[in-house]
Amino acid sequence: MHADLVVVANRLPVDRVELADGTRTWRRSPGGLVSALEPVLRANDGVWIGWPGGTETGLEPFDDDGLHLLPMSMSAQEIEEHYEGFSNGTLWPLYHDLVAKPEFHREWWNGYRSVNQRFAEKCAEVAAEGATVWVQDYQLQLVPQMLRELRPDLRIGFYLHIPFPPAELFQQLPWRRQLLEGLLGADLVGFQLPGAAQNFIRLVRQRVGHKTHRDLVYLPDGRTVRAAAFPISIDFAGFEELAHRESVNARAKEIREQLGNPRKIFLGVDRLDYTKGIYARLRSFGELLRDAHFDVDDAVFVQVAVPSRERVEQYRVLRDEIDRLVGRLNGDLGRIGRPAISYLHSSFPREEMAALYRAADIMVVTPYRDGMNLVAKEYVACRYEDDGALVLSEFAGAAEELRQAWLVNPYDMNGMKAALLEAYKADQRELTRRMRAMRKTVSTNDVRHWADTFLAELARIPADHGKPV
Ligand code: UDP
Repeated sequence: MHADLVVVANRLPVDRVELADGTRTWRRSPGGLVSALEPVLRANDGVWIGWPGGTETGLEPFDDDGLHLLPMSMSAQEIEEHYEGFSNGTLWPLYHDLVAKPEFHREWWNGYRSVNQRFAEKCAEVAAEGATVWVQDYQLQLVPQMLRELRPDLRIGFYLHIPFPPAELFQQLPWRRQLLEGLLGADLVGFQLPGAAQNFIRLVRQRVGHKTHRDLVYLPDGRTVRAAAFPISIDFAGFEELAHRESVNARAKEIREQLGNPRKIFLGVDRLDYTKGIYARLRSFGELLRDAHFDVDDAVFVQVAVPSRERVEQYRVLRDEIDRLVGRLNGDLGRIGRPAISYLHSSFPREEMAALYRAADIMVVTPYRDGMNLVAKEYVACRYEDDGALVLSEFAGAAEELRQAWLVNPYDMNGMKAALLEAYKADQRELTRRMRAMRKTVSTNDVRHWADTFLAELARIPADHGKPV
């Protein structure tokens, strides 16, 4: 296999599933990234390298609905050190403003490095001469440099889906220099926001000592690296189409009825992650009920919490805290058949998500820090009647584009309560004014636009990687 376009990501866009007769097969896991990359991968006969989850070994490359997929296996030890350890126990909290305390373990770092090396080697094996390689996200930050050493002919792009922290936080990392050098193996390093790209450039200047000018880094070997923002988005047309479906709207109506037809439905949809601010958000809503701004006939809060990283201790603690809070709020504030919070610890397919978005009057997205937050954009895409309110944290990447949301500081409980109440009371004209503007923004900047812009920028890099001839 010699592909002209290679996508390298921690996960493949498929899950391994067992059928009723015991045979194992693949099922496409829907997501923004695959819908963005599918057309370009098809057009270029490209290949996607990634881990399919689990510890199965001996997996062969295969085609799934015309996509060439190349599964990388991971041992239990690699999952523990590379994935749960360094990626999710060190980098994730460090890159999200230390919302939780990162742990630094040398064996995790070693696991991270060796998995990155294996991914780079596989990529070097399958990429055609002069091919374009697009490396995705924080689990693979060393791949660009490792790959360049093996294959200097390649055009390499890297995209970070999560925030990139300010220098003051990043420099706590014992392996800060290695990570920066890892990223500098790319020709183009993409971030969600301009501020993240600036953090990176500043760190490269201060910590690695390279010359920089605006968004460019000049390496001693004559190569240049560009760092810039490419805010990711969603398949707007896909969500809008779903939202128009009769079945989806019938389901939305059914959801409202099952909730007892309250005047207003508040909705939160998040992975159960400490960055998402679920606890403070539910408490704010509880206080509004307690203070009698509305009661359980008027409003209910539907919170979907998708199980996530359940083997990591901090996630188990968080789950217990939220369970207790929901129990207390429902015990104190609910009535028979009328809970204050309708809490669902599970994940749903896209159709059900669209129905929830259609049913909800007020979407509440209040992370302490989030790279982008696609849920906020999906809600906007589903509100084709220009109604519905979005309450959005200032610290979500999406807040830079969705200026017409009710923007809140998730650390400020009173501010959050005031915003929830305003959104609850807003009249139709106000809702329309805000939603129309947000829909315009998201429909023009969809995920195709994101992928096309990044790849076009990468293609502009001269084949000699900016080195003087
Ligand atoms: N999602 C889903 N089913 C669920 C809950 C969430 O398919 O039950 C999807 C949601 O539609 C969105 C993604 O998961 O596309 C979450 O992305 P986001 O950027 O909001 O947060 P992340 O989980 O990447 O931190």
